[in-house]
Amino acid sequence: MNYSSTISLNCPHCQSMCQFTCASQNHIKCKNDNLYHIFYQCSNCAGKIISRWHGNGYTGRMESNGYIGSMGFKSNTMTLSNYYPNIDSYKPKIDLDVITNIEVKKDFIEAISCYNNDLYNSCMIMARRAIQQEMLIEIEKSKEKDNLYKQIESTGISANLKKLLQKVKNFGNYGAHPDFCLFDDEENKIEDDKKFAELSLRFLDKYFADQYETSALIDSAPKSKHELSK
Ligand SMILES: [Zn+2]
Repeated sequence: MNYSSTISLNCPHCQSMCQFTCASQNHIKCKNDNLYHIFYQCSNCAGKIISRWHGNGYTGRMESNGYIGSMGFKSNTMTLSNYYPNIDSYKPKIDLDVITNIEVKKDFIEAISCYNNDLYNSCMIMARRAIQQEMLIEIEKSKEKDNLYKQIESTGISANLKKLLQKVKNFGNYGAHPDFCLFDDEENKIEDDKKFAELSLRFLDKYFADQYETSALIDSAPKSKHELSK
């Protein structure tokens, strides 16, 4: 499908074939997937979707009237890649580029995508998987067969960060196993998939900020002669 400010799609909110109208002011390319992310609104139920478009070679800022800046290229040469409902969106606080472990970054991004697509159990499972990836680097090979709890405990990270990761592990267990339960302080069972998924992402975000962002900040700071000689 070529770009147009009004398009017909199967609406993921009201489950019928509907007319959608572009709801974005201008179209800016996402640097992560190199696609244009554009909001549309369903004329039937007013539900919003995010659509992703291939730019077919055009780069830069694209105006919603279909032109790239003053250059006058028509953007109707953009083709639709996919679209999904915009239910809630989690935006990571950390700059994803500082996560130098590519596998961990991939899992974290997938966890966020799951959350943004209303797939909360999947989000918790992917967040747990991100920790598993991280532990493969953190621990020595000999400990690889340990369960995730022991792997986390055997790392050199601070006690608080360990607790943070153990929580994400628990949420992952909750997402993966129907018989795994979580409780409040009064031992009442709590079931709130969305909240648990959001906490998984927030805790991971905090961990990445401490582990990766701090290192990136330190590495980029000017060095003393003593530090240079190390
Ligand atoms: Zn609709």
